[in-house]
Amino acid sequence: MDRNVYKAMADVVGQEFISDDPVVLETYSFNWLTEFLPGAAPCKYMPHRPAAVVLPGSVEEVQQVVKICNRYGVKYKALSTGYGSHSLPGQGNVVVLDLRRMNRIVEINEEQGYAVVEPYVTWAQLAAEVMKKGYFTTPVQAGSQASVLANVTSGWGMNTFGNHGGHNGRNCLAVEWVLPTGELLKLGPPEGWFSGDGPGPSLRGIMRGYCGAQGALGVFTKVGIKLHHWPGPPELKTRSGGLMLYYRLDEIPEFMELFAPSFDTYEALADFMVKAGESEIAYSLVRAGGIAHMTSMFGSLSNQEIFENYHESGFLQILEEEVKHPCIVLIFARTKEEFEYKKAVLMDIIEETGGKILPPFLEGPFADLMKQEMPVALFGNDTHFIHHQGGFVISAGYMGNTDAVVRHMGVPAEKLKKKYMEKGAILFDGDDSTYHNSFDHGAYIYMEMEFHYDAALPDSVEASRKAIEEERTTRLEEKLGFEPNDIGLCVGDASLTPWERVKEISKRYMNFHAWQQRIKQALDPENISDGTNYGGGTPKPGQ
Ligand SMILES: Cc1cc2nc3c(=O)[nH]c(=O)nc-3n(C[C@H](O)[C@H](O)[C@H](O)COP(=O)(O)OP(=O)(O)OC[C@H]3O[C@@H](n4cnc5c(N)ncnc54)[C@H](O)[C@@H]3O)c2cc1C
Repeated sequence: MDRNVYKAMADVVGQEFISDDPVVLETYSFNWLTEFLPGAAPCKYMPHRPAAVVLPGSVEEVQQVVKICNRYGVKYKALSTGYGSHSLPGQGNVVVLDLRRMNRIVEINEEQGYAVVEPYVTWAQLAAEVMKKGYFTTPVQAGSQASVLANVTSGWGMNTFGNHGGHNGRNCLAVEWVLPTGELLKLGPPEGWFSGDGPGPSLRGIMRGYCGAQGALGVFTKVGIKLHHWPGPPELKTRSGGLMLYYRLDEIPEFMELFAPSFDTYEALADFMVKAGESEIAYSLVRAGGIAHMTSMFGSLSNQEIFENYHESGFLQILEEEVKHPCIVLIFARTKEEFEYKKAVLMDIIEETGGKILPPFLEGPFADLMKQEMPVALFGNDTHFIHHQGGFVISAGYMGNTDAVVRHMGVPAEKLKKKYMEKGAILFDGDDSTYHNSFDHGAYIYMEMEFHYDAALPDSVEASRKAIEEERTTRLEEKLGFEPNDIGLCVGDASLTPWERVKEISKRYMNFHAWQQRIKQALDPENISDGTNYGGGTPKPGQ
């Protein structure tokens, strides 16, 4: 890195908070899903190393570093906890702004039900603090170790408590925003953080949009996040030693119960999800495919343990016969009456939609285990239990009306995945590996097809890429009117650059990349904030 630029940045943050040591930079180049990027495969290193890594400790320092970048024409990219290749530079000459020093929960406003956090506050930290005050939040499956702010302001937003707590794009309230040029902007009310909109025209769509700008529009340094009612105890105690997830709840809250009804067809499942959503009985309404897929994600101590417990014992085969499309429903209540009422409504809906709950899921040691462990997956989330196979990826992932999404991600997704499983190119983990989140009591859902591959085998990576490409081509041709949710990941046809791929997708979705390009140009005329994962900002071929 140019020594003048390095020195200018070191003068702002201090020598100990900046580095361009190749060993340090190497660690900022290695990440999940990198093997899908053109120029990176088959290894897990990004095609470009950062020019340097800077750790600002305050909004003022962020502003000064961003201004230096503008002055010297050096690009930058914000990183909060960095789960996935989308958090790393997608081109050369980019400084990573690692925000780990900005790690405070600034405020928990009990009266108005929101919290204000800095970038390095994780879901686990926030959840633990707000539970003490009768609130809960909306952690993502990416893991409770991920940043609240990054998810809420800058990327995706699907979460396990979305049925009750909504999508995180909508939980985003006021933000403190260092614009790409280094100027400071606060969105929301002049005083307070309780709303994303203040006086005058709203900028929320521009700031967050559907999938977040993923670092392309400057740096968010604080966000207000909406909190949701928590009917559970102020603290959840866990102990180790579970069969599925390694941790289990020590005590199940008095009026909390987890159910796992199952359905024979995707149509019946969709019917159930709509009705269960509308009835407003469920705190959480999610699913993670069929039994084989779920067990392939469990987090026991070793893969061997999973194999022995589930496959070799024959347990899985017996269950698979009976349980085609299971769904997880977590019920909470404040009183016994409310609890009984909600459970009765659930049973009615299961009956009405042709579902069943198998006896081992209702009573006995397995049911107890399930009730103690599965909530940990919902509260604590899944990072630790999706890595066993070395590679985990999803098809595009769609958000929309339950019927439409389930219809097009159900049987067709199974058929497609089967083709690649039968070739042995991806892990055999059962037919149904479709993952769901319900939002706002079933108003809309998110659904993706998940699968595992071997990230160390180029053929397995290539097969996964092909499966995604095929899925995307067929779905796009159908023009279904629901949205793909993975624009920033840009996995797909290897013959296209990310820029070309975005343009292909964009044709079917109102040319969103052209609009993003206009936003980018207006806010970042010199193109300084690395826009690799933002439709409009993706570098052109050869750039
Ligand atoms: C296996 C896997 C599973 C995932 N599951 C989910 C899921 O279930 N739900 C979901 O919503 N997402 C999911 N994601 C996507 C993503 O990892 C999450 O949204 C995660 O919560 C982001 O937090 P982070 O701390 O990892 O962000 P980072 O990786 O640090 O950042 C994410 C993006 O936001 C930008 N960014 C980060 N901080 C700032 C900032 N302060 N200002 C401006 N831009 C910033 C980064 O440049 C990057 O592009 C998943 C990713 C992977 C790899």
